[in-house]
Amino acid sequence: MANDGDSGASGKVGKADTTHVRAERDLVALGILIAAIILFIGTGSTVLTGIVRSWVYGVGGPDVLLANALILNIALLIFGWRRYVELKREIVERCKAEETAQRLAHTDALTGCLNRRSIDHAMAALVEGAEASGDVVVVMMIDLDKFKRSNDLHGHQVGDAVLVETARRIKALLPERAIVARLGGDEFICAAVFGPGSEIAIERLAVRINEALAHPVVSTGIRAEVTASIGIAIAPKTDQPDAERLAKTLLHRADLAMYQAKKAGRNRFCWFEPSMEKELRFRSEIERGIREGLPRGEFVPYYEKQIDLETGELTGFEMLARWQSPRHGVISPEFFIPVAEEIGLIAPLSEALITLALQDAKAWDPKLTLSVNISPLQLRDPWFAQRLLKLLVQANFPPTRLEIEITETCLHENIGVVRSLITSLKNQGIRISLDDFGTGYSSLAQLRTLPFDRIKIDRSFVSSLGRSADSATIIEAISSLGRGMDLPITAEGIETPEVLAALRKFGKFKGQGYLYGMPASGEDVLEELAGHGLLSEPDGAFLRPIPEGPDAPAAANC
Ligand code: C2E
Ligand code: CA
Ligand code: CA
Repeated sequence: MANDGDSGASGKVGKADTTHVRAERDLVALGILIAAIILFIGTGSTVLTGIVRSWVYGVGGPDVLLANALILNIALLIFGWRRYVELKREIVERCKAEETAQRLAHTDALTGCLNRRSIDHAMAALVEGAEASGDVVVVMMIDLDKFKRSNDLHGHQVGDAVLVETARRIKALLPERAIVARLGGDEFICAAVFGPGSEIAIERLAVRINEALAHPVVSTGIRAEVTASIGIAIAPKTDQPDAERLAKTLLHRADLAMYQAKKAGRNRFCWFEPSMEKELRFRSEIERGIREGLPRGEFVPYYEKQIDLETGELTGFEMLARWQSPRHGVISPEFFIPVAEEIGLIAPLSEALITLALQDAKAWDPKLTLSVNISPLQLRDPWFAQRLLKLLVQANFPPTRLEIEITETCLHENIGVVRSLITSLKNQGIRISLDDFGTGYSSLAQLRTLPFDRIKIDRSFVSSLGRSADSATIIEAISSLGRGMDLPITAEGIETPEVLAALRKFGKFKGQGYLYGMPASGEDVLEELAGHGLLSEPDGAFLRPIPEGPDAPAAANC
């Protein structure tokens, strides 16, 4: 960096020097020219007077020496003039080249929009202008949805065409006095000036941008379809306006709102709200917690019992991640798993947890299985199966005791990769469950082509059983689907004996839920299993039925 700065700085000095020298030379040439003109007037007038006198009076004539000096003077005049013109042209060309370099440094070469470097300055100028006229600046952060996927699918040439067309469509819709910049990748920012109370007009503009960008871009015969998520921020009223700071705040707020638009389902716009700032702080804290807590072993596996509802037997445990934060106590995975996914740490986090869980499960009765949840992002890794098998080998844990749970969202990602991954895991003896079934949109065709071993009915249907007729209809439909496809079913979220009783009417299910106890730590599970002779010692390896119904002791039986 230091070198860059140095060379940049020295480059500038060099340029200034040459311009200075040229300007001096230009002045010298101009001086010579002026001197030559004065000389020409001086000698010319004497010589011409001599010539006129010789014509009129027929005597004398111009002084030969002076006449020669005049000829020399004329030559000097021509030379000086040409040099002056040449130097002037050179300077004009240099200025133009410098101007072009300046423009290139401030604009994005692909789309012709402003670039990241120049946006702060342009925004500050816009804010200043708006303040002077009593208007407000509105910033829209526009990010294309799934652009990377389109780029991977159609190639970079089409990707570039999409970006160019996006810039063109945005520019066409913006009012006067607006600026558009590409911040790199597929992120655009535009800022425009509106009169006070123009919220409806601003929303109308956002809708039109959304609509315009949703039209496919056709390039080299390929139709690329992308949509955009837009975050909108409007300059807050302030008594001491600082244009530069305000511009930065607006960009930050529009970015937060855009992030929210993505979260809300993409292809939409979202206004900035102060609560987003709080959420961001919370998220950053979790992010720091993951980065620091992972190497410190703060992430641990908890276990939830899985029961055969017909016999009441304990069949295994589902591992559920917990963060034992020294500051906040035990934190649910619903807070940290999405952040770990976002910051690219889900694989190391999951693998650390699985390693611990395999060690714990080795101490259990060998008939007890271990289920682990796998993020859709992990399934994108073509080496995932190998990595999982390596963990099993290192722990010396039989693959037949392991079950992985994947959610329906995995099926929308890349069905080909998921299929081959599932197949190779199954070939090793690992079983695969489709988790949270009923909440996604997996089609029957997909279910049939993927070799799942089990489907797990989402707890939202189970826990409302008895209260909602719809839930009963859905569970009935899923259980007949399971029967038809010969797929065993697990019902999650059994909280009450009533729900358990209602469930048993639908068929032979496995089940899990708070009725059987809250998820517990590895030590607690070990203690409980030891109490029931369900540890891996050769003499204690028997499963015992679990008492059922409301009288079951706290439902925490093994
Ligand atoms: P899930 O796989 O659906 O796990 C079941 C969730 O339901 C767990 O929440 C569990 O504590 C909760 N639950 C169990 N029984 C009941 C019940 O009777 N009533 C109610 N209301 N809830 C019940 P938890 O532990 O907060 O986990 C939330 C989600 O986080 C899990 O949903 C799973 O998708 C994800 N998750 C947990 N651990 C991991 C992990 O190691 N890796 C990945 N990728 N995801 C994980
Ligand atoms: Ca699960
Ligand atoms: Ca689930």
